[in-house]
Amino acid sequence: MRVAPETPRDRAVVDPVLVDPVRVDAVRVERVPVDTVLVDTRGRAMRDLRISVTDRCTFRCVYCMPKDVYGRGHAFLPRSDVLTFEEITRVARVAVAHGIEKIRLTGGEPLLRRDLPVLVAQLSALTTPSGGPVDLALTTNGALLARQAARLHEAGLRRVTVSLDSLDDATFMAMNDVGFPVAKVLRGIEAAQEAGLGPVKVNMVVKRGHNDHDIVPMARHFAGTGVVLRFIEYMDVGTTNGWRLEHVVPSAEVVERIDAAMPLEPVPPQYPGETSARWRFRDGGGEIGVISSVTQAFCHACTRARISTDGTLFTCLFATGGHDLRGLIRGGASDAELADAMAAIWRGRADRYSEARGAAEPLAAHGHRIEMSYIGG
Ligand code: SAM
Ligand code: SF4
Ligand code: SF4
Repeated sequence: MRVAPETPRDRAVVDPVLVDPVRVDAVRVERVPVDTVLVDTRGRAMRDLRISVTDRCTFRCVYCMPKDVYGRGHAFLPRSDVLTFEEITRVARVAVAHGIEKIRLTGGEPLLRRDLPVLVAQLSALTTPSGGPVDLALTTNGALLARQAARLHEAGLRRVTVSLDSLDDATFMAMNDVGFPVAKVLRGIEAAQEAGLGPVKVNMVVKRGHNDHDIVPMARHFAGTGVVLRFIEYMDVGTTNGWRLEHVVPSAEVVERIDAAMPLEPVPPQYPGETSARWRFRDGGGEIGVISSVTQAFCHACTRARISTDGTLFTCLFATGGHDLRGLIRGGASDAELADAMAAIWRGRADRYSEARGAAEPLAAHGHRIEMSYIGG
C-alpha cells in the first residue's frame, strides 16, 4: 500500500496505526504503516539499529583498519554510494515503526561525516509507535569530539561512547597507528560530560600482549569519574585484522585482575539480554562492564540490525552478505514497500555466529566477512 506523502501541515494528524512523521522539513515525509514487532526465526525482536555514516576514519586501529589494508591506495566508498541524511532518516523511521528503540551512529569515524548534527536532529525527531523518543547515541574514537560535543547535544544526541584502548601514549599510538595522543581523547570525554552527553561510556578493546597491562590503570583512572569503562574482547570481525584466539583476554580474566586491585561485586542486568556484564567497585567508586563476545556469546539475545554506509542491511556483525536497501530507496520504493522488505529480512534471520564459534560448530561465515569499519561496530 502506498500512502500519500504528507505536507508539513498534515503533521498534526493523530492516527494510532501510523507512526509520527519526521518533524524536520528537509525530510520527505511519508507515513509508515506500523507492523507488529518483528521477531526472527529464533524469537529475537529487532530493537537496536546501528547506522554507519562513513567508512572512513582518522585512525588505523590495528584490530579494525590495519594500515597495510587501509593505506593510501584503499578505495573508500564513492560519495554517490553513501546514503544521504534524508535516506538514512527514512530507513531509520521505517525501522522505528518496526520496533527499533535505540539508534547508534557509528562508522568508520562518525564525526568525520560533515554536518552530522543535521542528521542527529532528524533522527532525534523520530518517535516510537508508543510516542516516546528514540534513544539516540554515538560511538566515536573521540579525536574530534571536544569541538563537536556541545553541537551534537544541542541537536538531540543523548549519549556517547568513546573508544580508548590505553592511557599510555606509546601503547595507544601503537594501537591507533596514526600517532594520536591519549590527552586529546581524554579532552573529548570531558567535553562530552560537560555537554550533558553522559553517562559517557569508554570502550577498551583488550588485545593480549598489546594493551592488557593497562587494564587496571584504566579501571583506576575512570573509577569515581562517572565514566563507565567497558572492556571488549578482541573479536574476529572481518578478515583483515589477523585475529588469533591467543590475543583474546577473556572477560573473566579482566574481572579477576581488576578485582585483585580494586574489589568488585556483580551488578544485576538492567534489562534481559544486556550485552555488557556489569560489575561495581565495592568502595562505591562506580562500575565497569565487560563485553564477552568471544567467551560468552550473547547471540540468543541479539536484537541488533546494522545499516552500512551504503545502505546495506546486515543482521549480524559476522555476516558475509547483506540486503540492499539503497537500491530499493533509489528505485522508488514506498515506505510501505521498504517496511515489508525489512520485515521479510528480519523474519528470516537465524544468525548466531559467536555462539557457533564458542561451541566449535562449523561456522557459516567462513567466506569474506564484512569489515567492522564498513558495517559499523
Ligand atoms: N570509530 C569509532 C570508534 O572507534 O569508536 C566507531 C566505529 S568502531 C568500528 C566501533 C567499536 O568497535 C569501537 O569501540 C572499536 O573499539 C570496536 N572494535 C573495532 N574492531 C574491533 C574488534 N576486532 N574487536 C572488538 N571490538 C572492535
Ligand atoms: Fe577507526 Fe574506530 Fe576502527 Fe579505530 S575502531 S580504526 S577508530 S573505526
Ligand atoms: Fe548478534 Fe551476530 Fe554478534 Fe551473535 S554474532 S551477537 S547474532 S551480531
